[in-house]
Parts: sequence; C-alpha cells; structure tokens
Amino acid sequence: MSDSPAIPSNFIHQIIREDLKNNKNDGRVHTRFPPEPNGYLHIGHAKSICLNFSTANEFKGLCNLRFDDTNPEKEDMEYVDSIRESIRWLGFDWEDRQYYASDYFDKLYEFAGELIKQGKAYVCSLNQDQAREYRGTLTKPGKNSPDRDRSVDENLDLFNRMKDGEFDDGDYTLRAKIDMASPNMNMRDPVIYRIRRAEHHQTGNKWCIYPMYDYTHCISDALEDITHSLCTLEFEDHRPLYDWVLDQLESLPHPRQIEFARLNINYTVMSKRKLKQLVDEGLVDGWDDPRMPTLDGMRRRGYTPVSIRNFCEMVGVTKANSVVDVGMLEHSLRDDLDKTSPRAMCVLNPLKVVIENYPEDKIDVLTLPKHPKDESMGNREIPFRREVWIDRADFEEVPPPGFKRLVTGGEVRLRGSYVIKCEEVIKDNNGEIMELRATYDAATLGARPEGRKVKGVIHWVSVQDALDVEVRLYDRLFNCENPDAAEGDYRDYINPDSLVVKTGCKAEPTMADAAHEERFQFEREGYFCVDRKNSAPDKPVFNLTVTLRDTWAKKSN
Ligand code: ATP
Ligand code: MG
Repeated sequence: MSDSPAIPSNFIHQIIREDLKNNKNDGRVHTRFPPEPNGYLHIGHAKSICLNFSTANEFKGLCNLRFDDTNPEKEDMEYVDSIRESIRWLGFDWEDRQYYASDYFDKLYEFAGELIKQGKAYVCSLNQDQAREYRGTLTKPGKNSPDRDRSVDENLDLFNRMKDGEFDDGDYTLRAKIDMASPNMNMRDPVIYRIRRAEHHQTGNKWCIYPMYDYTHCISDALEDITHSLCTLEFEDHRPLYDWVLDQLESLPHPRQIEFARLNINYTVMSKRKLKQLVDEGLVDGWDDPRMPTLDGMRRRGYTPVSIRNFCEMVGVTKANSVVDVGMLEHSLRDDLDKTSPRAMCVLNPLKVVIENYPEDKIDVLTLPKHPKDESMGNREIPFRREVWIDRADFEEVPPPGFKRLVTGGEVRLRGSYVIKCEEVIKDNNGEIMELRATYDAATLGARPEGRKVKGVIHWVSVQDALDVEVRLYDRLFNCENPDAAEGDYRDYINPDSLVVKTGCKAEPTMADAAHEERFQFEREGYFCVDRKNSAPDKPVFNLTVTLRDTWAKKSN
C-alpha cells in the first residue's frame, strides 16, 4: 500500500525511490508537464498533470510547465493561455518555471551542428514520397539515403543555408544518422529538422526551419535538468531515440524517460483533433462546452478540482492501457459535491399549488440549514406563502404502485415546511392539469402530523418569491461506449439529448445572490452550478453538473 496518504505508491515512485537510493541526480527529483499548445487540455492531460506535479511534490522536487511548440501551424496563444489557466484551476503551480521548447531553438540548432560535426547527422534531399519508400516497412529494412555520406563541411553548409531560407519547404531535411535496418522504425535515420515557412507564436518569423518533436523533447528535458521524464506509452518506441540523441551530446545531462498508460474514458473522445473538430463544426458550444471532456468544459459543467484530482489518484498509474468507466469520474464528483455543496430548492417543471386555508397575506419565513451534515455552512431563510410551485412529476392522479408523493386526496410534506393535502385538480379544456388546490395542516411545521403517517417529502418554491431561472440539463455527449471504435463516424454517436434547456424554472429566492461557478445541490434533482459564461443577474443560468445517482447504470440494465 501507500507510503504517503497523498498519492498511492506507483511503479514510477518505486523507480524514483530506487534512483534516490543510488544517489542519482544528487538526490533531486525534477519533472515537467509538456503540453503542445494546439488545443485545450482534457481529462487525460489531468492524469499527466497530477502525476508530474504530485510526484515532484512527493519527493520535494520541482515540476516545470513546458510548452512543446515545434508545430507552429497548429499552435496558438489562445491555447497557451487556456492551458495555463486550466493547470492553475486544477490546483498546481509551476512557480517561475514556465518554458517553451522554442526558448531553445538557438541551442537546438547548435546541437544539430554538433551532431553533423560528429558525422551523426546529414542533410537529405529525398522528398516525402522517396523518404517513405527508403524507410522500408516493419518487415523490410530501409535503404540508405544517397546523401548519407555527404561530407561534414557540405552538411554544415547546407544546414546553414536551410536556416537562411535559401531553399523551399520540403527541399531538404536534416536527419540523424543511426541505422536504416533497425527493427525500430524510429531509429531509421529520423528527420530532426524540416524547412517550414510558418510564423511561430513565440519566435515570429525568425526561423524557417523547425526541429522535430523527438529531437526537441529530450534536449529540452536535459536543458531544464529534468530527472524523470514521464510520458505516455506510445513513446516507449521513441525512448531509444531519446537516449541516442542525449548519448551523442555529452555535455548534457541524461534524464530518464518512463512511460505510463494513457487515461481513456468511455462515452467520450479524447483526441485533441476530434475535440477541435467538434468545436470547428459547431457540434458543441466551444472548447468549454460543459459536455466536453476538456478541463475548461468540466469546470463550466461544475466539476471541482478536488474531484478530478481524486479521480486521477483512484485511477492510478500503470503500464497497461485500459478504459475507465465515466461512472468512476462521476462518483468522485458526487463524493466531493455532497460534502461541499449547499442545498437549495429549484422546481424544474413547475405546477402551481394554491393552499386555500392559508391566509393570502400571511408569510412564514422558514430557516433551513444549508447542509444537512455541515452546520458550519449556516442557514438560509425561505419564504412560505399561500401559493407554491411543486414539480409536475411529484403529483399523480393515478399513482403507480409505491408512489410516495402527492396524489388527489393524499398528503405530502413540503421540505422544511408544512404537510399539505391535495383537495382538487384544476384542468384546462384539453384535460391538462393547470393547478392544484390544497389545504395545509398548521400543526405540522417542524412536527409530525397527528395520528397519521406522511411518507413523502417534496421540494417547493413560493410562487411570489420564486426566481425565474434557466436550467441546462446536460448528459453524456455520446450515447455509445466507444465512439472511436464504433461503426461509421464517431460524430454519428452524438447523444441528441445531451443538452436540454429548460426555461422558466423556479428557484428559491436565495439563488439571486449566487455567483458564477457557485455550486448547489438542488434537492432531489442533482448538483448544479452557475454557468460562468452565460449567467447574468437578470437571467441566471444553472448547469446540471451531475444527477444525484447514476441514471446510466439504470438505463443500461
Ligand atoms: P492528444 O493525443 O489528445 O492530442 P497529446 O499527447 O498530443 O494529446 P500533448 O499536449 O502532447 O497532447 O500532451 C501533453 C502531455 O500529456 C504528454 O506528456 C502526454 O503524454 C500527456 N497526455 C496526453 N493525453 C493523455 C492521456 N489521455 N492520459 C495521460 N496522459 C496524457
Ligand atoms: Mg503530443
């Protein structure tokens, strides 16, 4: 089990403990989180963020934030900003250690020159199609490029001229000279520089050549004195290249790359390319749509940072890829929200009840606790009057067996208030129920009714005092477990009921003071939060964060 209550021990921590025992890196632990600023962060990234920052924390080390920005065409400052905000929101702090791989473009260029001088890199003139042909296949070794034995001087000259913009995009590449027969395709003389005339969000038009990810990443790690470079399993086959580059550059330290399994979750997609497509095609309301698995979307939905961090802890760190049930994420969310959310009442499908024996000008100001178990949250005051809203679903003329709420001639307790009895149902010409007429038992405020049992308790809001609010009921964005693997296109599986907008919902008047992102449990309905984007004092908007119980478990049974 765990050495520390903060994070359960995992295989990476065991490796680090071993390294510390052997006095590697002078006992330092230094990690980094290296996002590419080509999209917003998603819940998968949260796993990597939690792992990198918590590992540093566990071993009293440091964790850097480094933007891996070697693909200028796909990257943007908008993404840089959102990534910074999401990491902070999750509760982690890189202090003054924010870097860009592009900070190292000059050094990367120099190191490439060093590789050329060692005879370990060469300028290659094969075009893309030729290069593919020369690369061979998994079963067939590759062929040496005709340029492989170019002289050092010629390579240096050509590389310099690549940088100076003398050639067109794609005319030349710089390649590492490793082994065209290697069973590992990544080692077959990988390209380490390409010519690409693209403006960069950090370096502008200074460069027309850009280093490739594999070459950049290991050197960036080394330049930042990273000790343990934690990455996902798909980089396992890249580790020999990571090590090869650093083995050639003896002046640099040699961080240790360790791979762990990506987080996958069902009922969603997690590739940035697909998330971007959903945004670009208007299938969702932006990267922060509350149905998106992005951290910005989850934040807007009402997820708490604690619930996400706890979830990442629960998932653990392993070497085996697997798919985690989204129910586990929602469980972690409910767990936190139950403890931290004040209670409130909001009627989503209002039905008016007129309590005929309650005087028209009378008002009871009831004091209800904000939380049933946490007194420190204090109380709220709720007005009770002759007319109240209840939810349509809480009244049945012909009740199904076991129905414990209001029926014609039956009694129910209004939460924190009186017991009422339904005396009459008023309908319109079409037979639709318009309102109920009821009576109340004045002796039942905070007391049991005399001589009878009333089992049901329902929520309500005083008609005169109610705040009109919009409620957005969110559900899973996809209605199939693995939209990526399902037949056809993943977009075919978008859940058409993933957003239901309800206007004219009736909230208790205390909700008028609710601030953006404030979270509540609307009793008997679920957890809701004030939409940080669209909610305004004259038009409050609440997002359904999660229902009180897992309704999907029921559906699929
Ligand atoms: P995507 O495939 O979603 O586009 P990516 O790997 O290209 O993601 P990066 O910005 O390069 O995105 O990721 C930054 C860091 O987060 C990397 O170290 C990457 O390994 C890690 N990461 C990305 N997705 C996941 C995931 N699903 N689970 C765990 N870690 C992840
Ligand atoms: Mg990546």
